[in-house]
Amino acid sequence: MDAAKYIWMNGEFKAWEDAQTHVLSHTLHYGNGVIEGTKAYKTAKGYAIFRLNDHTKRLKESAKMTLIDIPYTIGEMNQAQIELIRKNEFTGDNVYIRPFAFLGYGVMGVYHKQAPVETVMAAWEWGAYLGEEGLKKGIRLKIASMSRPANTSNMGKAKATANYLNSQMAKFEAIECGYDEALLLDDQGYVAEASGACFFIVKDGELISPPNDNSLASITQKTVIEMAGKMGIKVSRRRISREEVYVADEAFLTGTAAEITPIRDVDARIIGTGSRGEITEKIQSAYFDIVFGRNPEYEHYLTYI
Ligand code: PMP
Repeated sequence: MDAAKYIWMNGEFKAWEDAQTHVLSHTLHYGNGVIEGTKAYKTAKGYAIFRLNDHTKRLKESAKMTLIDIPYTIGEMNQAQIELIRKNEFTGDNVYIRPFAFLGYGVMGVYHKQAPVETVMAAWEWGAYLGEEGLKKGIRLKIASMSRPANTSNMGKAKATANYLNSQMAKFEAIECGYDEALLLDDQGYVAEASGACFFIVKDGELISPPNDNSLASITQKTVIEMAGKMGIKVSRRRISREEVYVADEAFLTGTAAEITPIRDVDARIIGTGSRGEITEKIQSAYFDIVFGRNPEYEHYLTYI
């Protein structure tokens, strides 16, 4: 990864190399931590963080779900991220921000409430998550052999560190089999989400994405639904079965890191023409216009640095 200069940790800026924790930190052993993934883009008016407040609010809510008391307000954490981008003097097209909270050093054992809460905001320059070529030509997805954990034993709506074990296993399997990314089904066999992004298909001109019953409530997915509505594209939120995925006209992933990544193949079934679909391209280009500050209608989603 590309190191930056500073990391905000528990209220102060530290040099990148000095933002450290003890090896006996609670989260390293028992996996209870929460993360965000937020992005700043270099607009004509300088860097702007996309939907900053929504991301920070989700971090606070993930922490509430997982019983981690972050001792900072959403406003304080927003301000920390703004200063972080300023102080690091980035130069690239975009910057990925990783706000997170974890349980530090002090106690062992599963009961976690006495462990100290560490709050961190880090940021670095990061290229296209699923590759520049993937953004243009589309990627190949494999439906994972593991499903997303059922809601009876998991909190999929928390952006919780622990949820990424499932994501990691699915992603590894996909890569090992020669694919780019994993698509996870829920315990009923319907599409949940990808390992780190949400899923859409296009069928007969209609955009379809599963409800967030078994997935993160994705901010990019929400943005795409809003955009599509304004573009006059019909959008439905309903369950999608494996067979429907295979015969979709187009498909794409949405996520802060994945942005709008077209899908060209799922389990060796070519999707549509086998490259970026027409509606996908329209949505992708409209999304980049929004995040790069080229669409005044969505200015309210941008926090300029
Ligand atoms: N699902 C998972 C599991 C993710 O990790 C992400 C990335 N944060 C998403 C969906 C997409 O969420 P967002 O659009 O808010 O980045």
